[in-house]
Amino acid sequence: MAATAAQLPGWVSKLRSFPKERFLFGPSPVQHLPRLSAHLGGASIWAKREDCNSGLAYGGNKVRKLEYVVADALKEGADTLVSIGGVQSNHTRAVTACAAASGLKAVTLQEAWVPYNPPLYDKTGNILLSRLMGGDVRLNSECFHIGPKASLDAAVRELKDRGAKPYSIPAGASLHPLGALGFVDFIVELAGQEKDLGVFFDTIVVCSVTGSSHSGIAVGALLEGRGRKVIGIDASGRPVDTKAQVTNIAKDTLALLDPDARLPDDAVVLDERFHAGMYGIPDEQTKAAMRLGAQLEAFITDPVYEGKSLAGLIHLVRSGEIAPSSKVLYVHLGGQPALNAYSEEF
Ligand SMILES: *Cc1c(COP(=O)(O)O)cnc(C)c1O
Repeated sequence: MAATAAQLPGWVSKLRSFPKERFLFGPSPVQHLPRLSAHLGGASIWAKREDCNSGLAYGGNKVRKLEYVVADALKEGADTLVSIGGVQSNHTRAVTACAAASGLKAVTLQEAWVPYNPPLYDKTGNILLSRLMGGDVRLNSECFHIGPKASLDAAVRELKDRGAKPYSIPAGASLHPLGALGFVDFIVELAGQEKDLGVFFDTIVVCSVTGSSHSGIAVGALLEGRGRKVIGIDASGRPVDTKAQVTNIAKDTLALLDPDARLPDDAVVLDERFHAGMYGIPDEQTKAAMRLGAQLEAFITDPVYEGKSLAGLIHLVRSGEIAPSSKVLYVHLGGQPALNAYSEEF
């Protein structure tokens, strides 16, 4: 029997009061990884598959975030979503996908965030999908950072001058007031799946760059109050910036959902050992993790994000930093479309 609104915790009712588009299939699958667990000889490893969460252009974490963000754009009467990312951004592909599925236009700035330019880097993978979906894809030479971007503001001004109704979405949808709600939802969804499966994941490992996936999960875990540990794995190569941004987003999101709650100082944990020195570039440890996941479980990860967080998971389990008695949930955030742009690494 469904719980009535009165029986729900206040923060869950509040979360459900925000309008939301339906872009996901439903709860994303939770899967045990028995061969990887046995190989590492420690904690029992499971994955929640945000990489297969939606039918919109391969889905991924950005589609979960955009359920709330696009609902707000539609409420404001926007006709064009405008956003920003690197050349092989999963986020701009997801923005273009959600625009297409909502009858909106998309303009995406694809910046030179990664000092990497093999043949077809700007023609295959994510950017190919954006073009196929009719997105207005604009390449420029701006460099990587996760904060507000003047180039995005300029594109919005230009569209307004032309009479369009643009709606601006920051990188990764992270510095958007509603950007982390999807991943608070993720925790509510997970708790229901755990009940059905008869398991409890005491530790969650998640990749972190622009920060709102990590923030949402940390806030959800805090509000549910079951003592889960959330470990972010930095893939930005600038962990000081990422940690500050995750913390700020978590504070703002917590204030939206429960004005009386306070973010404890230790709520944001960011492991800095696996970013390989630079956003968008894998090292040997990244590639070894990608090969191990692929060869033991046909578990496919990308060199920009999940390869790095998988390297983190592997180390944490193998070393016993995550206790052998743990059940650990690796959050697979997506990103495989970029893999073809990195073929020369393999
Ligand atoms: C964007 C992205 C991340 C990082 O998520 P943030 O919310 O930006 O921290 C991780 N993995 C994949 C595949 C992504 O596309």
